[in-house]
Amino acid sequence: MKRRHFLNIIATAGAMHTLSDLKGFTASLSRQNATMPVLFVGHGSPTNGIEDNEFTRRWKQMAQSIPVPEAVLVISAHWLTKGTAVTAMEHPRTIHDFGGFSKELYEVEYPAPGSTSWAQETASLIRQTSVALDHDWGLDHGAWSVVKQMYPEAKIPVLQLSIDYQQPAQYHYDLGKELAALRKRGVLILASGNMVHNLGRIRLPSGGFSAINEPYGFDWAIEMNELFKKHIRSGNHDALIRYDRLGAAAKLAVPTPDHYYPLMYVLGLQARTDEPEIFNDQLIAGSLSMTSVKWSAG
Ligand code: ZN
Repeated sequence: MKRRHFLNIIATAGAMHTLSDLKGFTASLSRQNATMPVLFVGHGSPTNGIEDNEFTRRWKQMAQSIPVPEAVLVISAHWLTKGTAVTAMEHPRTIHDFGGFSKELYEVEYPAPGSTSWAQETASLIRQTSVALDHDWGLDHGAWSVVKQMYPEAKIPVLQLSIDYQQPAQYHYDLGKELAALRKRGVLILASGNMVHNLGRIRLPSGGFSAINEPYGFDWAIEMNELFKKHIRSGNHDALIRYDRLGAAAKLAVPTPDHYYPLMYVLGLQARTDEPEIFNDQLIAGSLSMTSVKWSAG
């Protein structure tokens, strides 16, 4: 803890009069000492950003069950770059990076602040490549559709770290490891993708796109969802990094790695004492999994 920060806490303690003051003070202290969990969230349809459904309710519950973060660092499947960058603007824009949805979805704004200082801190931790401070991107729907449901008040700074799409899975896994210090400083690292994600094979339910969250999975999607969970539970990271060796079903589940690579970052961040908790374990539209994982000290 920095000296000035410590002195501020002492001053605050001296000014406390009530039990609720004391409770708030204790919560603030525990937040400073807690190692934040890390999350992989299956984000699915952009409409989850505005819908109240079983998946988004679980996202909200997740936010309420973990310490309030100092900042949220999102690794989204929808920011693929050459090289690695972190958003460094103080006011990231809300990006509507999708087509064919209702006007309501294009009007969504999520005005969470950014943080130049957390961006600099993130960039300084990464040794295996130089990280650019970005002032153009903002929050794509892989980020805001989830974070807006978790933290609707938009008070917590949100940053994004891009995915260098020229690099293999191992690279992203190793880069994730380098972010570990942020967990101890109260930053929630949230990887947003979908482990099983094949848009070319989607089969919508009879209710059409508005019923996309109806449970349904093809046999190969069910097989891969089970295999991914098995390797996550047993901590077999090598198998997950070498997903291209997991057979024909894996080729269908991960035809392109954009929605899979976010998982690599949080696997890299898993500490020896962390236990995985799987939630939103559901296949939809045949070829998408909403399966999500929280890792925290068991
Ligand atoms: Zn997506």
